Amino acid sequence: MHERRITGVSWSQHNRAAPTGGHKVGADLEAWCGKCGESTTHSIVAMVGTEPKQVLCQVCGSRHAYRTGPARPRATKSDGAVAEGESRPRVAVDPEAQKRAAQLRALGEELAAAGEVRRFDPKERYKAGEIISHPDFGRGKVENVLRSSLLVRFSVGGLKSLMLV
Ligand SMILES: [Zn+2]
Repeated sequence: MHERRITGVSWSQHNRAAPTGGHKVGADLEAWCGKCGESTTHSIVAMVGTEPKQVLCQVCGSRHAYRTGPARPRATKSDGAVAEGESRPRVAVDPEAQKRAAQLRALGEELAAAGEVRRFDPKERYKAGEIISHPDFGRGKVENVLRSSLLVRFSVGGLKSLMLV
């Protein structure tokens, strides 16, 4: 920087003698450079009051707003992106419903894959785990055998109690 003399004051001398916080345009200071990704020596190019506003990086030559540390990453700074990410789990079906749907699907596959299926007859006796065929409900899996009834889970109608005689 060339010397300028205003009313006898040497600016270069004044800069050297400047106390901490006595920033002025043209002075050097340590500032964060986003382009360099580190704290580098900058020249002040604009001031607001007593604070540096714009600085010029002496390493890469980029001119930017004065800051002492890195700007916060955009990912945590942007509310929009976070809200967008949260909206997906919110619209998802609840885990219980998903579990039931998966069980129902598994049951449907098991019922369809069953080769030998007895027709339901209230006079017959069945055992738990057996797959039966019901005239109204179709195929179902015996879940529980009670003294006078069967608890059968059908892939369409769900759990039903079939009376035995
Ligand atoms: Zn830089």
